[in-house]
Amino acid sequence: MKISFPYMGTSHIVAGYLLENLGHEVIHPPVPSKKTLSLGVQHAPEFACLPFKIVLGTYLEVVEMGAEVLITSGGCGPCRAGYYGEMHKRILHDLGYPVEMIVIEPPLVEPFDFFKKLHRLVKPKGYINLVRVLRVAWAKMQALDDLEKTLHKLRPLVFAKKQLNRIYDEGLEAIRRADSVKEVAVARKDALEAMHSLPADHHYKPLRIGLIGEIYVVLEPFANFDIERILGEMGAYVHRSIFLTNWIRDNVLAHGEKDIRAAAVPFLNEMVGGHGQNSVGEVVRYAAKNFDGVIQLAPFTCIPEIVAKSIMPAASKARGIPVMTLYLDEQTGQGGIETRLEAFLDLLRQKRRKQEAS
Ligand code: SF4
Repeated sequence: MKISFPYMGTSHIVAGYLLENLGHEVIHPPVPSKKTLSLGVQHAPEFACLPFKIVLGTYLEVVEMGAEVLITSGGCGPCRAGYYGEMHKRILHDLGYPVEMIVIEPPLVEPFDFFKKLHRLVKPKGYINLVRVLRVAWAKMQALDDLEKTLHKLRPLVFAKKQLNRIYDEGLEAIRRADSVKEVAVARKDALEAMHSLPADHHYKPLRIGLIGEIYVVLEPFANFDIERILGEMGAYVHRSIFLTNWIRDNVLAHGEKDIRAAAVPFLNEMVGGHGQNSVGEVVRYAAKNFDGVIQLAPFTCIPEIVAKSIMPAASKARGIPVMTLYLDEQTGQGGIETRLEAFLDLLRQKRRKQEAS
């Protein structure tokens, strides 16, 4: 069977490796583009959130490329994501694509369902092979996160920013090609060394910005206009609140993120679905770490992030940290985003100057 999956940040490198090495024919999803979004917008309900539309667009692209089975994650709690697998499937069937949708639910929430679906995926090559493949996949995931964290740290400091981006891209490709834990370690080390070897101003103290919000728009550069690159090139250090490895550790392997949620409790004492409560908790944590500001990325019509946004003024005032929310949908334009980011950084620079003068 020809399998495919949604594209989100660098996760496609790991998902593609896993499925190929479990013995499946993989249709690799293309990088989301304006065409992907426009396909999704054309066939999605008007008030669906941006991730729903981009993922639907990706599905339409991969079924045209021959995909017969789509794998996606499920969800629990008060967010529409739990229904999206079924909704995407019905839309695709109505459009004449009889695809099968395999929705993987969190193992600690639906253990029986999880192992049933896992068994089907593992069957072609067996469980001994699974252990080896999982070890390599986890090493790849850690290496990808390490490269991205280093990219965020070095971007405001390095003079040749395009060269840094190029080395990073080459590092991703080397990690993608690696076929053992050892090869992944070599690819990671080479890329990190090359990134650190670029001339940089290590005395420069960039503004420190925390990036929070809904997972898909935080992790996928197409959905957020590559905000990390824009901010880095404007001279700011971006600390992203979500990475693949910590998300899997906290949400798939454990009922996690308790400390972030505990930080949110004085302002929001309830799970509101998605990353809503986390967004509030992250603001509290970034303030405690003396970050200069926080940017919240919220898909338009995303209820969890709308709830979090309504609480942001109180959290921001109480903890003394500026927070800016960017709503994202198919109408959002890059020019508008860049103007708002410039204005926000100006405000943060003024605040820092005042603090230094006092
Ligand atoms: S968290 Fe928000 S954007 Fe993400 S699936 Fe739920 S409603 Fe959509």
